[in-house]
Amino acid sequence: MVPRVVFGRGSFSQLDEILMPERKNSEAPFIFLVDDVFENDEKMLSRIPLLFNDQIVFIPTEEEPKTDQVDVLVDKIKGISEVTPSGIVGIGGGTVMDLAKAAAIMLTNPGKAEDYQGWDLVKREAVYHVGIPTISGTGAEVSRTTVLTGPDKKLGINSDFTPFDQVVLDPELTNGVPKEQWFYTGMDCFIHCVESLNGTYLNAFSESYGEKAEELCKEVFYNGNLSKEESQDKLMMASWHGGMSIAYSQVGVAHAMSYGLSYVLGTKHGIGNCIVFDHLEEFYPEGVAMFKKMKDKYNIQLPKGLCANLTDNELDTMINVSLGLDPLWENACGKNWKDIITPEKLRSLFKKM
Ligand code: NAD
Ligand code: ZN
Repeated sequence: MVPRVVFGRGSFSQLDEILMPERKNSEAPFIFLVDDVFENDEKMLSRIPLLFNDQIVFIPTEEEPKTDQVDVLVDKIKGISEVTPSGIVGIGGGTVMDLAKAAAIMLTNPGKAEDYQGWDLVKREAVYHVGIPTISGTGAEVSRTTVLTGPDKKLGINSDFTPFDQVVLDPELTNGVPKEQWFYTGMDCFIHCVESLNGTYLNAFSESYGEKAEELCKEVFYNGNLSKEESQDKLMMASWHGGMSIAYSQVGVAHAMSYGLSYVLGTKHGIGNCIVFDHLEEFYPEGVAMFKKMKDKYNIQLPKGLCANLTDNELDTMINVSLGLDPLWENACGKNWKDIITPEKLRSLFKKM
């Protein structure tokens, strides 16, 4: 679990006092990984409390994080500072959150990031790392994983050393998020709730976090009578609670299929989940019905025909990547999931997308 968190509009201004006790000495900098959408945002950048040899590294977000990107980033950080940094601060969306977590791990663990894709393979504590989300929904700020695409799989570094040591939740930072992206990343949270609450792994913790997050998502996207500030505040809390819910259980069909889509086509997580979820009535009838209403309400047009022109090979890869995610399928369909979810079944579903 994340041991420390502050929440509130304007709480980003507390970063200086939060980091100060964690500074090892003037030689050991803080490295701020910042979403490059803020590259020309002087107001935002001037609020980052740079001291001594601290540095900002801008992170592009067109593509989801890759293992070799983490290796290059870690080499860059080692080039900036000969001593291990005091810490890594990630400021951005899920992409930056995941890169910050992965870089913090790889600064103290030998080898390449791809060596740690899996469960509990990390042996050494990461450097101190802080997450500051600027868009809400993924729950990456609270999760025990950092999702990475490697040479042969898309799989997270899941470990006790992955979660942030500190998170700053300042809903004001989400001010500039464009509508479509707000919807896609917000729906990631809604889908986390649906998959967790309808899964066989459900337990008292995942249920209570999931119910709260789902209620908040409905207030934001379904009822839709909130002020902009209320909506931002509630979605940031929803993201956290949705992340906690799946931390105690697991995601399901939409995520398993969306991983396949992303592996072959590079479709990003939020929009990929939406494209898939739109076709999953048979698994999540109530959730999908509500999703369609929310999609209409905000006039969101999802891409169609993504898989129409795929070769058999590409489709097979998509199916295999998806089928490889056993825990997601077991959560969704129970221990005998292989009786229901066959390659043919997935082929016919993907063909619709
Ligand atoms: P993202 O981080 O890719 O950001 C989406 C877009 O929003 C980018 O163009 C970004 O520049 C922009 N953006 C972010 N904040 C903004 C702001 N305040 N104003 C204007 N634009 C802003 O998207 P995401 O949906 O947050 O994250 C997706 C990533 O998160 C994927 O790589 C996915 O694998 C990962 N993920 C991780 C977990 C986890 O538990 N670790 C969970 C879900 C998703
Ligand atoms: Zn997700």
